[in-house]
Amino acid sequence: MKKITVVALVLAVVFSGLNCVNNKTKKMTNPLLQKWDTPFQVPPFSKIKPADYVPAFEKAMKEQNDNINAIINNTEAPTFENTIAALAYSGQLLDKVSAVFYGQLGANTNDSLQKVATELSPKLSGHGDKISMNPELFAKIKQVYENKENLTLTKEQAYLLEETYRSFVRNGANLSKEDQKTLQQINKELSLATLQYDQNVLKETNDYKLVIDNKKNLSGLPASVIEEAAETARANGLDGSWVFTTQKPSMIPFLQFADNRMLREELYKAYLNRGNNNNKYDNKKVLAKIVNLRLQKAKLFGFDTYADYRLQNRMAKNANNVYTLLNQVWDAALPVAKREAAEMQQIMNKEKGSLKLASWDWWYYAEKIRKQKYDLDEKELSPYFKLENVRDGAFMVYHKLYGITFSPVNNIPKPHPDAVAYEVKEADGSHLGVLFMDFHPRASKQGGAWQGEYQSHYVTPRGKNVSPIVTVVYNFTKPGAKTPALLNFDEVETLFHELGHAMDALFAKNRYPGHHIPSDFVELPSQMMEHWATEPKVLKMYAKNYLTGEPIPDKLIEKIHNSKFFNQGFINVEYLAASYLDMDYHTIKEPLKGSITDFEKEAMDKIVLISQIEPRYRSTYFTHITGGYDAGYYSYLWAAVLDNDAFAYFKETGIFNQETAAKFRKNILEIDGTQDPAVLYRNFRGRDAIVEPLLENRGLK
Ligand SMILES: [Zn+2]
Repeated sequence: MKKITVVALVLAVVFSGLNCVNNKTKKMTNPLLQKWDTPFQVPPFSKIKPADYVPAFEKAMKEQNDNINAIINNTEAPTFENTIAALAYSGQLLDKVSAVFYGQLGANTNDSLQKVATELSPKLSGHGDKISMNPELFAKIKQVYENKENLTLTKEQAYLLEETYRSFVRNGANLSKEDQKTLQQINKELSLATLQYDQNVLKETNDYKLVIDNKKNLSGLPASVIEEAAETARANGLDGSWVFTTQKPSMIPFLQFADNRMLREELYKAYLNRGNNNNKYDNKKVLAKIVNLRLQKAKLFGFDTYADYRLQNRMAKNANNVYTLLNQVWDAALPVAKREAAEMQQIMNKEKGSLKLASWDWWYYAEKIRKQKYDLDEKELSPYFKLENVRDGAFMVYHKLYGITFSPVNNIPKPHPDAVAYEVKEADGSHLGVLFMDFHPRASKQGGAWQGEYQSHYVTPRGKNVSPIVTVVYNFTKPGAKTPALLNFDEVETLFHELGHAMDALFAKNRYPGHHIPSDFVELPSQMMEHWATEPKVLKMYAKNYLTGEPIPDKLIEKIHNSKFFNQGFINVEYLAASYLDMDYHTIKEPLKGSITDFEKEAMDKIVLISQIEPRYRSTYFTHITGGYDAGYYSYLWAAVLDNDAFAYFKETGIFNQETAAKFRKNILEIDGTQDPAVLYRNFRGRDAIVEPLLENRGLK
């Protein structure tokens, strides 16, 4: 696989070299900087060479700098048009080049592109800093902002003005010289401390190994898990043994299946105590430093707590709103978790007499309950989920909701030869955008699944509509020698999920480039699509046995539905406990002086967490709060409330109700990122989201 990519790359270089020899009189041109004469103006992927990127980026950065200088040097009084709009349009070329580069870096990468990425990273962040720290530019923005009451602006313009001003302020543009210096110092210390925290977690994770020499201790484990552990042992030079680690793919199966209770305890405790071993990788003091620096930063900006600073530009807006939601779900989930624990204790009583269920027992007994009550055999399901059938099912849902169609396009440049292209058209046949789909893993593709844009929608200053060019990238099970690609259920949901993001991008009607959707809102269109994937009526339409064409039987649909309720008390409680911990650290008003151990204990005592469950992440290895989810771990739940509540609207009015769909399209898909998300949601739903549909769908009601 990898070899083919390298060969293709070499050929591209050779051919372009030949072109050069044959056309000596012709000037060499960079395809990234030319007008694209391709169908629908998609990037001419195969013509772009790795060496084209750096010069194109440099030209694009220069162009943006020139545009910004023009804003600054404009002698007329600053207006929305000559400042805010002009700034929004200043990076059109940079956006265009970045979209191609980062799209290819994820889905069609190679060593040369990786090298370019490393070279570009400091240049691009320096370029961004120069703009956001430019005092003359900010002075102009501020003038427009302070005059906003006197301006006649559309809702999108008002929001863009607010967001532009706010992002400069949040970067420190409005601070005194002295405070700016303090901010820079805090940011520097924070980046070092978070890096150290992450490295400590990594080190502690890699350092621990549960080495098993006695075959007896493997009792209960499936053959595939044992084989994997033998492989890990070999990789560590421990041939003939079996090795388990605190990485979840290794640890969870052990906790689920290993009959040896003492070893389960040993492994789980090693996991729980990462960064908490009082050695040089201990994270307790590092975390205290991080939360105190963050508090200091928030105070510099005039906020009481870091959470309030962080939540200012999210849908949740403040810590209070987050706690209200956490409490609502907590009150519903904790009793369910207690019932689950009691059920497990009963099994334990029968098996072992007087032992009490502990946190390292949970997965083991949950697995027994799963087998008894919820067994869903993937082998039984997968014949109904042929990739092409699932894809057509998702297309059909969109067709029924919005009347749009997906027509395959050949003879069009593609991000990779394996990708397929569709023209997405409105019900009246007019062009909406291009959708690339790229389904299977290969060496040049990153893991996971994502949606991206090779061209995002906007309207040029001259009023020309720029159509979106969207891509969804997956790593789905490949076809077998004699079988088509048959997806597992996770993959089915993922296909619908990413297509949900894609439609958000394809329906976009924003006028200005670079609209920003808050992180606790952006998963609404995608997570909502997953509900259609499992609706019985929809399953009957697309989930057909690839051999017989028979639709999926009711018995299997029922099993899929039941399986959603398995272990929900535990899943919600361990997630919520971690969310509380994240919020508690970021709502302190005074610097944290006591120990992290005490702080965590107090936080968990406050919510009365039961001893059989630990928070999904504990203080010393909670890498979400160093990785961008600080005062943000709640957002998974926030988005889930929205998608369950939004889908409930469709359930109430009919899952293919075109009027409800039109409301969703008009109020959310077309304009999210251009207005306050809370307002958008209210306009769609007629009220704020409520938590009940989520509780019901998770079996917590
Ligand atoms: Zn997503």
